[in-house]
Amino acid sequence: MYDLILKGGRIYDGSGMPSFIGDVAVRDGRIEEIGRIRAAADHVLNVDGLAVAPGIIDFHTHFDAQLWWDPLASSSHEHGVTTVVMGNCGLTLAPCKPESRDALIGTFVRVEDMPRASLQAGIPWEWTTHGEYLQALGRKPLGLNVATLIGHCAVRQHAMGEASVEREANDSEIAAMEDLVRQGMRAGAFGFSTNANQRHYREDGKPVASRFAGLDEIARLCRVVGESQSGLVQFTHGAFAAPEHVARIGQWYDTILKETRRPLIGESIRHFWSEPELWRKQLNDVEERCRQGYAAYAMTSTRRTLRRWTLKDSTRFDEMPAWKKLMTLPLDQRKDSFRDRQTRVDLDKAIAESKPISFSRRWDLVSIKKVARAENKHLEGKSIEELARLLAQSPIDAFLDLALAEDLETTFEDAATQSDEQAVKEIFCSPHVLLGQSDAGAHVANANPGFGFATTMLAYWVRERQIMSLEEAIKKLTFLPASVFGIRDRGLLRQGMAADIFAFDPARIALAEPEKVQDLPAGAPRYIQRAKGIHYSVVNGSVLMKNGAHTGVYPGKVLRSI
Ligand SMILES: [Zn+2]
Repeated sequence: MYDLILKGGRIYDGSGMPSFIGDVAVRDGRIEEIGRIRAAADHVLNVDGLAVAPGIIDFHTHFDAQLWWDPLASSSHEHGVTTVVMGNCGLTLAPCKPESRDALIGTFVRVEDMPRASLQAGIPWEWTTHGEYLQALGRKPLGLNVATLIGHCAVRQHAMGEASVEREANDSEIAAMEDLVRQGMRAGAFGFSTNANQRHYREDGKPVASRFAGLDEIARLCRVVGESQSGLVQFTHGAFAAPEHVARIGQWYDTILKETRRPLIGESIRHFWSEPELWRKQLNDVEERCRQGYAAYAMTSTRRTLRRWTLKDSTRFDEMPAWKKLMTLPLDQRKDSFRDRQTRVDLDKAIAESKPISFSRRWDLVSIKKVARAENKHLEGKSIEELARLLAQSPIDAFLDLALAEDLETTFEDAATQSDEQAVKEIFCSPHVLLGQSDAGAHVANANPGFGFATTMLAYWVRERQIMSLEEAIKKLTFLPASVFGIRDRGLLRQGMAADIFAFDPARIALAEPEKVQDLPAGAPRYIQRAKGIHYSVVNGSVLMKNGAHTGVYPGKVLRSI
């Protein structure tokens, strides 16, 4: 007799091996059998026609605060996520002395765009050490499994107080930090995170504490991680560093890798139109570290920075003077100009000759998101290039004619990042790149939130764009992060592994439109985003989500690296 059987699904086991149809049986929170199962179970989920995969591991979140008021880590729980890792980017809420609470809140307010009032109202501060933080979390009901990193900023603040945001540390201060990292690792943290990003400041305008670390400090703290023989180091430094800072980042990399001989997650690699070759250089850097024998990884975001705009009120073309001049004209005059032949030639030329930072200059990447007139409904989803081909017109004519026919009310969409598909494919398919970087829990006012990074991967990049197989994508969202972090019993559907599972319809999985809600402590707003096509998620053998609704159970655990 089993507790649970998922019957008749197509199993993507997380290894990247070919999928197959079978049943998965669960007892006491673990996977007991996979195949044709004839034994009975308390619960049987018919997953015929669905894909059955290990639960998604979101390895780059900032849920450190949110879990205290939202044990489901919403909206991650709606997207098949069963494990979240927090404490990234050098930021954690532990260790923390009572007098430093406000300073740590200040880092989250500024770097992660979280409302101060919510953090003040929502964090219970039942801890001083990292171990006490994990214990306090363990006393709470949790929907998902939670793993933590020890944040360098918190460690520094604990050891040095406000001097941590003013200067390098002395020998005894570094020794105190070593003790804090050692305690955290012994308590079960999955590693250490640090941050040298020159754009990361506290709320009071001071650079975040980790930015003041000297190489000796980095070396000694990383040595502690290395001695623990578990976990990894996560290093945030931003993609666009000033030239004099690049050398310093390189020294940090060398030091971290040499001292730990543990995996390192560094570079955040994305394609930007402003620096279209940067991703290749970043990828080369990671590959070079691997050639030297280090377990070096980068991460990327599956989310494109989408922009939606109309020609009625957009600033999308403001980097090009010829366009900007037109876009500031009164509406009737602007429409007249858009009709003018010579103006069209000038606008087309402006696009061809300019080097805009965020506009791709490619009509195949600008799509018709929403039309204003019913008779144009069939054009929704098409790119301007497709429209031009359909009408046997030039793209600029097709684009402006459609907009004029709809009184400039057509909504267009394009992406400022991750829209050069060939680049995206190379980044995503690299074995050195982890898919995620959701920043879930942070940047709460972003109308394009990151919770659904895996849903985006499976719906857009795999089903629509076919940049890799579903088997490979599932591996990159489950087994790969579990392996890099050393989460040993998750990320695979195999006998003996923890029963973290999600079942979805590969033909229907999709993001819902983001929604603005007012559910943060102290009534602050944020954006959430639900999923479509995800039927079940199972955490430690209990069904957490059924057809998009929480079943009421809290089976999540605090994971420990030891
Ligand atoms: Zn982050």
